Parts: sequence; C-alpha cells; structure tokens
Amino acid sequence: MEPNSGQAASESFRAQALIYKHALNYGTSFCLSFAIQLGIPDVIHRHAQPMTLPELVSALQLSPEKTIPLRRVMALLVHSGFFSVNFNKEQKEEYSLTPSSRLLLRGELSSLSPFVQVLVHPVLSNPWRFLGDWFRGCKEQTVFETAHGVGLWDYGGKDPGFNGLFNEGMASDSRMMRLVVGDCKEIFEGVNSLVDVGGGTGNVAKIILQAFPHIKCTVFDLPHVVSGQPEDTNLSYVGGDLFESIPPADAILFKHVMHNWSDEECLKILKKCRESIAKKKDAGKVIIIDMVVDMQGDDADITETKLLFDILMMVLTTGRERNEREWEKMFLEAGFTSYKITPIFGLRSIIEAFP
Ligand code: SAH
Repeated sequence: MEPNSGQAASESFRAQALIYKHALNYGTSFCLSFAIQLGIPDVIHRHAQPMTLPELVSALQLSPEKTIPLRRVMALLVHSGFFSVNFNKEQKEEYSLTPSSRLLLRGELSSLSPFVQVLVHPVLSNPWRFLGDWFRGCKEQTVFETAHGVGLWDYGGKDPGFNGLFNEGMASDSRMMRLVVGDCKEIFEGVNSLVDVGGGTGNVAKIILQAFPHIKCTVFDLPHVVSGQPEDTNLSYVGGDLFESIPPADAILFKHVMHNWSDEECLKILKKCRESIAKKKDAGKVIIIDMVVDMQGDDADITETKLLFDILMMVLTTGRERNEREWEKMFLEAGFTSYKITPIFGLRSIIEAFP
C-alpha cells in the first residue's frame, strides 16, 4: 500500500501500534504474574515507604545484575497502573503501591493473587491457542476440551493439584464479597435458608453467615470440590450435580456459576430452582451474582474486561456473559415473574429472580 500523504502514513503507523499493543498484551499478563510470584507488592508494602530500585532488588534477593531488567518490568507495570513511581532528590525512581497492587498482597483477605495465577496457568491459558481448531469444526463442546480432551470440571476431578489452585483462585475472588454483603440487607431479609450452588469451598457462604448468622447455609458443589471441607454452625456442604437436583432453600444463590452454562443449560437449572423454591411454603428467590454486559452504561475498561470474560467463558465452558435483555429472556422462559438487578461492585451485579 502506497501512502498518498503524510497523514495517511501516520494513521497507518498508529494502526500498527494498536495491533502490536494487543498482539503483545500477554506480556502484561506474564509480568503481572511474575510480580506476584516474586512478591513485589509484598516487599513494597513491608517497606512502608516508597522503594528505590536497589532497595527492591535487595529485598527481593535478586542479583544486582537484574537491576536494569527489573526497572524495565516495573516500567510496564507502572504504565499499566499496578505501581506508581516518583523521582527522589537524586532523580532515582521510587515505587509505591496503587489500589490494584494492594489487592495482590499475600495473606490479605482481599488478595486476588490466586485468581490472577490461575488465569495465566497453562491449563487455562493454553486452550486459547485452540480457538481456531474449534471454530473450524472440532466437535468438542468447549475449546478447553479440544485442548485437553476433557471438560474443565472433569479436569479438576482428575488433577488434584490444579483443582486446589482453581478452587483457591475462585475463593480469592469470592472473598471480595465481604466488602458488599453487609450492605445487602434487603436482599437477605426474610431468608432463613440458602443454598450456594457451585459454591466452591464456601467462602461466599461464610461471608453471608458473618453478616446474617441466622441463615442456614448449604454449599453445593461437585464432590471433589466440597469433600473434606469443615462444617460449622449453620454451614454444611453437599456434593452433587446441579443438573440432577438442587437442595431446597428459601434462596438459591449462584455466584460466577450461570456464566459457565449455555442459555439452554441455564434454563434447565432455573426450572429446577423454581421446583426447589416451590417446595417451600413462602415464595423464595434465586440470587445470581454475575456480570451484566452494558456497553452503553459501563466505561470502556469495564466493558473490555467483560468482553474478555465472555471469550474466556467460550474457551473454558459452554457459557457466556449476558446483557440485561438476555438475562430477562431466560428468567421469563424459565417461568419467573420478575427480576431485579443491583449493580453494586465493578464488574458484577446482584440479580434477584422471583418465581
Ligand atoms: N461460586 C464460586 C465458584 C465459581 S466457579 C465462586 O464464585 O467463587 C464454578 C463452580 O461451579 C465450581 O466450583 C465448579 O466446581 C462448580 N460446578 C461445575 N459443574 C457443576 C455441577 N455439575 N454441579 C455442581 N457444581 C458444579
């Protein structure tokens, strides 16, 4: 292509930069994962004041030869918003945490590090390479299955090491719920029993119990996920398959679960929920914590993250992220009469569906 003016050439070069940025975005993923692995956020946090590069190298017990490579990694992570940098009197960099790297501190209740590490884990990231094969006619239900020969949930049952990392990743995401559950009094009002379907190792149930200790909580998940989990007052675990039966309760909760299943599968699940709720005398409800795609209402970063999760669901599962119309259509088809969406925290909303 012959550029016909300087402007056309500059547009082409800008276009080239956009292509390269997105083709190399995995570099940010790996540098983020590497920073967590090395413990960079923890070291800066322990230092309790902005940290110079030599201080960082020494605290991380790296060889001084790695000072300049580390500065280069930090430059990308500063640019991406994970650290901030100031220049001291000697014009040397001093690094501090940002709200995002504070969420990566080890041992903190709110740490998202296990979630990041499971997203970049080869078991979840390799299947992306198989998208083309899958689109061009592989018969497997999911790209994950094309890559690994079994679906994600069976894989977890066969590989205890990965199962542990996956469950810990999900648990770390769930612990953030403690920032909002206490403020959701109206949602849990009148609820005396609750089953958290696909509730993993029970973190959301524990958070709900802290805020509403009278609720009898059952965590329902695949047997290899719930086996050996210690029970407590008002907290019990049941292993099973959500397509077979769901224990009855006033409220049936799904966090980060519906987006793992196709519309047809969600309809089956929702119809089962209506049966379980109907067995109770007072009308109960389904509570879903998931994303609601809102291209007009959300800012560009939130939308991009939701769209990435949508493709992640296509790669790993039969599921998808949905907009409000798509959620509504499913609720009505499953026989629910009304629903309410409360967008309360960044990416997720709480959706209540009433029979
Ligand atoms: N609700 C948790 C976990 C979400 S991941 C959280 O937000 O942290 C989806 C969960 O669904 C996993 O724990 C997985 O084991 C569970 N799951 C998958 N297939 C299932 C099935 N057929 N029956 C019950 N649970 C299932």
